[in-house]
Amino acid sequence: MHTSELSDAGLPDVDILTRMVNQLFSALPSSASGELPSAALPGVQAPVGLLPGGFPAGAPDAPISATLAVPESFGSGLPLSEAAPQGFGLPTEAQLQERIAPRAALQQTAPLTAGAALFYFLEPERVAEQAVSSVVQSKFSGFPSPVPNPLAVVPSSHGSDFLKVGAAPAGFGLPSDSELLALLTPSQFGMSAAPQRSGNAPFYFLRQPGVQVPGWPASGLQSGTGAAAFDINLVRRDFPILQERVNGRQLVWLDNAATTQKPNCVIERLKYFYQHENSNIHRAAHELAARATDAYEGAREKVRGFLNAASANEIVFVRGATEAINLVAQSWGRQYLGKDDEIIISWLEHHANIVPWQQLCAEKGAKLKVIPVDDNGQIVLDEYAKLLSPKTRLVSFTQVSNALGTITPAKKIIDMAHDVGAKVLVDGAQAVSHLRADVQYLDCDWYAFSGHKVFGPTGIGVLYGKEALLNETQPWQGGGNMIKDVTFEHTQYHQAPGRFEAGTGNIADAVGLGAAIDYVNCIGIDAINQYEHQLLLYATGLLKTIPGLRLIGTAPDKASVLSFVLEGFKTEEVGAALSRDGIAVRSGHHCAQPILRRFGVESSVRPSLAFYNNCADVDALVSSVRRIKSGRNSAPH
Ligand code: PLP
Repeated sequence: MHTSELSDAGLPDVDILTRMVNQLFSALPSSASGELPSAALPGVQAPVGLLPGGFPAGAPDAPISATLAVPESFGSGLPLSEAAPQGFGLPTEAQLQERIAPRAALQQTAPLTAGAALFYFLEPERVAEQAVSSVVQSKFSGFPSPVPNPLAVVPSSHGSDFLKVGAAPAGFGLPSDSELLALLTPSQFGMSAAPQRSGNAPFYFLRQPGVQVPGWPASGLQSGTGAAAFDINLVRRDFPILQERVNGRQLVWLDNAATTQKPNCVIERLKYFYQHENSNIHRAAHELAARATDAYEGAREKVRGFLNAASANEIVFVRGATEAINLVAQSWGRQYLGKDDEIIISWLEHHANIVPWQQLCAEKGAKLKVIPVDDNGQIVLDEYAKLLSPKTRLVSFTQVSNALGTITPAKKIIDMAHDVGAKVLVDGAQAVSHLRADVQYLDCDWYAFSGHKVFGPTGIGVLYGKEALLNETQPWQGGGNMIKDVTFEHTQYHQAPGRFEAGTGNIADAVGLGAAIDYVNCIGIDAINQYEHQLLLYATGLLKTIPGLRLIGTAPDKASVLSFVLEGFKTEEVGAALSRDGIAVRSGHHCAQPILRRFGVESSVRPSLAFYNNCADVDALVSSVRRIKSGRNSAPH
């Protein structure tokens, strides 16, 4: 240390010491306890609109989309052996075959065959849907799309004891110096992925004189590199709960359809809000009210971009998907539905998308009709067409089934409903963490989702609605915040979204949801989609080799969910035995009793994947289920 950096007493300056300590810790990948830049670097104030995670809210140097094309390996129609995107540390299709075939032969069950329509992205219709969706999204929202991926690709060994693929990095499986440097900046804030920028330093504070991260490429990261990739090992470090020990073992979280885990940046964002911004919004003239309002409205704008809505006025904050659906039923439904009008839902629905419509029908004398599914769990479009008529006022359906994982042909269902003049609500609760949601492309009238299923906090969710539709709908709850003027005789309501946000909302958690969306955008929803798809194939292939295991829901177009029953065992027994091995899955009816009964069961075991799961998680599940089936006890801890 230079003597000029010592105080009069000969002691180092506290600010300089703090900076050095921060630099030291930031040099360790994902080691940061999530210390925030403004706090970590004395004297550097976070400019308005910049979040602690380093993400600008609409700042001029915000991530810019550089690629409009669908990644090469997505829906490319390549032969299966070449279709697996590289760089995730996941096996290629050929390696999967190699891995599964001998095991399958051993079990005398059919091996996973190429061409057994497991690849939904080889389905031409879906490819077209994704392609249009990607272009629309990047054109209108300004978010990076569909890749370029911000991360340097670190060779990865995924830790699977079933399968080791790809070159393990030289040494001990640790990244090299240059790989570390490329990853260093984002990881110090509990994030493994850096936003795409060109020319500028990755975070605003790096532009401060004297604050440098050695090795950050002066020209910024290269964009448009093609196939998306992220390093699963680094991503996992962003989720502290994945280090938790349960029953003496490291947690394997496979209950993502119930709720997702939270990355450090979300946890830290909530803390930052309560430490530096907490106030009620919109009402006061003081500084903290302005900060809280900026943060809350900033989150609304992030949701707008995430859904590619045309305006932030179309984004209503609610408690979750359940409340969003009830809002539509109790406001629009009560206002516009009458006797003998018809509502169509699908057989796949969660109770949250059944019960509110039943209640409304009972009140109004309207009828509820249900689209059947086939034996794989796919919506039967021909039957749907027969249900549609001028009496149909509303079609409400899930984009991804929570019990089976089926991805429904959303665009087609919506277009067919609009052809008969019906409105459409899409339940996106299970979709948003796996698929690109683009409400302008889909052209749905409403779209509902819950923050906690997309790595955000509980107690916050979103109802998207077309602006004109929201404004012509009477509010369902009255109170503060949603009014323009009140006399004892009459009340004038705000336009949307205010008219649907009566009372004090869940301000902090809305802000936390904004941070979660930043995180997802940073990795890239298309990269997530591809990675999870490969992992789902891997898991499906292995589960199929277990004797007596029946998969419930085998649609070619699926996301995340692997529902099954195990011959000779109650589902709750399987769930409890897995829990003893540290593996969290849901067992029960998953609030979707009609669809399980359609398959002749009252309950199922439901592992469900997110992008922070890896092959090792799947391997742990598979060996545990095998052990349960064989009646052996768990291995000692
Ligand atoms: N819709 C679907 C498809 C779901 O899976 C869920 C929850 O699991 C919901 C709606 C309800 O979500 P929430 O309980 O967060 O309101």
